[in-house]
Amino acid sequence: MTEDDIIKELTKGQRKAPNRFGIGDDAALVVDNRIITHDTMIESIHWDSKLSPADVGWKLVAINVSDIGAMGGTPEWCTLSLSVPEKTNIDWITAFSKGMREALKKWNINLIGGDTTRSPNHIVASMAMGSRRGYNWAWQHTAQKGDDIWVTGTLGDAAIGFFEPKKHTYNTALQRPIPPAEFGQTIAHNKMIHAMIDISDGLHNDLTRLCTRSKVGARIDPTALPASSVLYNNKKSLAYQTAFGEDYEYLFTAAPNLETLLRKLAAQHKVTIHKIGKILDAKHSITLDNTPWPSTLFSHFQKAK
Ligand code: ADP
Ligand code: MG
Repeated sequence: MTEDDIIKELTKGQRKAPNRFGIGDDAALVVDNRIITHDTMIESIHWDSKLSPADVGWKLVAINVSDIGAMGGTPEWCTLSLSVPEKTNIDWITAFSKGMREALKKWNINLIGGDTTRSPNHIVASMAMGSRRGYNWAWQHTAQKGDDIWVTGTLGDAAIGFFEPKKHTYNTALQRPIPPAEFGQTIAHNKMIHAMIDISDGLHNDLTRLCTRSKVGARIDPTALPASSVLYNNKKSLAYQTAFGEDYEYLFTAAPNLETLLRKLAAQHKVTIHKIGKILDAKHSITLDNTPWPSTLFSHFQKAK
């Protein structure tokens, strides 16, 4: 049983309205032209001792912001559901709140409510987030043949933080991700892109999701994947960049003639962007040129292989 099997069962027979395109994108469009998303983090599944309680608070906000920004939205409010075992110390809550508040301040988001319960064993932190009113949302199902495929930032940094924590004791990609949501909002609202998704489950998984939903193929150039210096000379670079996730960068597709404009906007937002491949028609599969895709390193739903 995979995560997708479960979501399929849960959403059988779901009517499409009011979220115009139904379930399946990074967030859902609801009434009043706003979008809404929901993400959960569970102790020992989504974090371990590599994250401080304050990091967990930050990250819970950041991963919701990531989905809102991937639709081209600006976050406005959130609700928090927190379930804690009896043994949890108030210091944990204080530190978690501090990290959460820092992130809420950064993205100018109001915490407007939530729920608090006891949990048998592990801490469970779950957040819903809504956007301001918007227009020109970005979707996953609208990539077009001939589009360039772009990614923001660098890929694989969070994987290094996860698998080689001794080498990189404080890895901000894993612990304090900063999704480039303002940039996502700008390129979507200016109609500069055809499709967008956030890279939370790894480049291979998320590109596959976008291409399947858009009914297109894709070719990625493995030598074009952006890496920061922490990946230099690392034999597992390609796997870290494509098969882990947690990057919280954006993958978007755009007509080739918009390259100069996209680069200019990225520079204005202090975001780096790299062109990593092409959208092809549906008869092509999703390839990494002639290199096989590295096998998945981790899935939140299944135990690590
Ligand atoms: P993301 O990684 O962008 O947060 P997910 O992989 O969690 O997205 O979910 C994929 C899609 O399935 C999203 O549209 C999400 O809203 C939907 N989804 C996930 N879990 C459920 C559920 N339990 N019930 C209904 N819809 C769900
Ligand atoms: Mg997402």
